[in-house]
Amino acid sequence: MQGPLPDALTGVAAPVADPRSHLLCGETAEEYRRLLTDGVGRVAAAVAGADRPFSGVSPGDLAPRVRRIDLDRPLGDPAAALAELEEVYLRDAVWFHHPRYLAHLNCPVVLPALLGEAVLSAVNSSLDTWDQSAGGTWMERHVIDWTAGRLGLGGAADGVFTSGGTQSNLQALLLAREEACLLLRKNLPEGEPLGRLLPRLRVLTSRDSHFSVQKSAKLLGLGPESVIPVDTDGDRRMRPDLLADELRRCEAAGLTVMAVVATAGTTDFGSLDPLPAVADLCERAGVWLHVDAAYGCGLLASPTRRHLLDGVERASSVTVDYHKSFFQPVSSSALLVRDGAVLRHATYHADYLNPARSAERLPNQVDKSLQTTRRFDALKMWLTLRIMGPDAVGRLFDEVVDLSAAAWRVLDADPRFEVVTEPVLSTLVFRWVPGAPAAGDAPAAGRGEDPAGRGPARGHAADRAVDQANLHAREALAASGEALVASTVVDGRHHLKFTLLNPRTTLDDIRAVLDLTAGYAEEHFRAGAPTTAAPLSGTPAG
Ligand SMILES: *Cc1c(COP(=O)(O)O)cnc(C)c1O
Repeated sequence: MQGPLPDALTGVAAPVADPRSHLLCGETAEEYRRLLTDGVGRVAAAVAGADRPFSGVSPGDLAPRVRRIDLDRPLGDPAAALAELEEVYLRDAVWFHHPRYLAHLNCPVVLPALLGEAVLSAVNSSLDTWDQSAGGTWMERHVIDWTAGRLGLGGAADGVFTSGGTQSNLQALLLAREEACLLLRKNLPEGEPLGRLLPRLRVLTSRDSHFSVQKSAKLLGLGPESVIPVDTDGDRRMRPDLLADELRRCEAAGLTVMAVVATAGTTDFGSLDPLPAVADLCERAGVWLHVDAAYGCGLLASPTRRHLLDGVERASSVTVDYHKSFFQPVSSSALLVRDGAVLRHATYHADYLNPARSAERLPNQVDKSLQTTRRFDALKMWLTLRIMGPDAVGRLFDEVVDLSAAAWRVLDADPRFEVVTEPVLSTLVFRWVPGAPAAGDAPAAGRGEDPAGRGPARGHAADRAVDQANLHAREALAASGEALVASTVVDGRHHLKFTLLNPRTTLDDIRAVLDLTAGYAEEHFRAGAPTTAAPLSGTPAG
């Protein structure tokens, strides 16, 4: 397809070998050990050698390196494949373990979980049925019971591991929809089709909740109008008074609220919706309360902050992402429900897999899951709990929450930045702002659009210039690889965001990244501030 390729990347025709030699079995057990040791050695060296979180490579630079590899021409040799992997992946990986990776909800991973990952992929149990997993089924159930116990969901609670918070939220809303339809059907003529009920269903959730709520609604056959956003207070928490208004409005309009989704740790701000007040309203209205604790679930193990989740024990269902605040590798998430019986809405029987006649006798996890073949992700949490123990994991989360509080004080005192809310968890949303210009200085952004240099036009253009400066700072940081930060939009303005999940990040790291950020933003702002009539909106972000 493409031009001539360097020899090292084209590979040579592999000698005809028995392909069965590539299968893990008794005979290849030693080869397996060697191969994994080599691979792990490479990763260990890359991790140890990463002096920055990212190389700064651009998508355009990396794409041809990947695309020119002919997947029909194997290298045959693992050492050559690993060397190639270095070129296309490891050298330019994004390193979440680096203390200056401050961007998204990605955590450095704990070693016991990596051990679990190695074991579970080699044994390759599938957690759909007992006859494909044996002990794995009971171990998953034990981790689920442990989590439900920490949540305080009571003796009838149950749950299942999922691929992530998105899937956990989807399953929660499926269960809620089915329960709501059961109730609705009671008052309807026999045989009323589901399709006629769906348009009456509503989900109430905070404006800052995760977009998987909307996606789930779509997958569940609900229209875009079915998800009603409830406004938040100054701390970005769902306002219970407005939730109450909305519940009343729905009732008056003959609509059925199938679920209220509260967020325990919003993705943007880490804010925790007021769970006790929300639970009161749900209880009074007889509405399913789903708590999305994908981010905040780490508090379950916190020796000092478990109380921040008070009220979660009243939820009908809860999402936890162990791969966020329990320092687990992706993927590791679960959906927990207060009443295990509702999981029957996900139960289907196949004669070849989980026949109905054995359902009473065999513990088949597929009966509770949206997935069929499913990884034994629970093993990672299992080994984490067995080796480190919950307090040690909880202390790791505490450390990043403490760090965030300290970082907020630094940011709040720094005139170069505006910070949106004081964090409860470990997220900081802020923006660089230009200092008051010294007399004789001429940075006045927007002057070009408003020759008088005054009035609303000036303010608008200046805001845009500050937006661009912030966007530029983020991109410049990433391009240099010195640090990775995220960006988001708050009230129409571009902001920067730290999501702190690395207990090895120090306040000095934070200060250093803030200095770099301010440097890039300032430079861009000054260079971009026109003294002519050049429109600022045309300023490229990069
Ligand atoms: C990350 C997140 C999700 C989605 O979880 P995934 O594991 O990425 O699918 C859902 N809700 C919240 C609040 C999150 O932070």
